[in-house]
Amino acid sequence: MEIVRGVYLLESTKGSYSYLVMGEEPVLIDTGMPGRHDKIANELLKLGMTFEDIAHILLTHHDVDHIGNAKYIQSHSHAKVWAAKEDAPVILGEQNRHGLKRVIAALVRADTPKVDAVYQPGEKIGSLEVIETPGHTPGHVSVLYQGTLFAGDLVTSRKGKLRPSPGFLTWDNKQLRQSIAKVGSFSFDWVCPAHGEPVQRGSLWELL
Ligand SMILES: [Zn+2]
Repeated sequence: MEIVRGVYLLESTKGSYSYLVMGEEPVLIDTGMPGRHDKIANELLKLGMTFEDIAHILLTHHDVDHIGNAKYIQSHSHAKVWAAKEDAPVILGEQNRHGLKRVIAALVRADTPKVDAVYQPGEKIGSLEVIETPGHTPGHVSVLYQGTLFAGDLVTSRKGKLRPSPGFLTWDNKQLRQSIAKVGSFSFDWVCPAHGEPVQRGSLWELL
């Protein structure tokens, strides 16, 4: 589903959305829950694309429902996988997740991708800007592309309303709130979260 021109929500990743941005080069933001790769491939095919067309995979954070198909897509393309330096050791399986996420990761296994590059502060990848938004995880990032903010698990949406990501799944709630306030200073019209449908900017930032 095209949200705005050149920005697609991949419906095959419902539950933990992945987005495709057709900027200078095709970029995937997150990869959904494990085991969806065939469905993602079919959806790309309808857009006239294959995994080989993907130039970059930007991971917003280390959760299994976001890195789920990164390994598969990486091994069927030349896509470069990006992650935050704080989250990379968890993605690579070198460091355990915290709290409840350790249990979830034991139940829902994701294949480990190779992390090809870590974000640098203020990094721009093509025309996408990476914004550090720690809180949900230590290295969580959001991505800004023209008027669209890809928020990962910074916020969720329900019935057209944005709210902060649930506290019980959050590494540091104070940092999460600070990160929400921080992205509020950027200019955008659409917010694309992983959990819930894309919504127009709304009033979340005004409430903080
Ligand atoms: Zn998630």
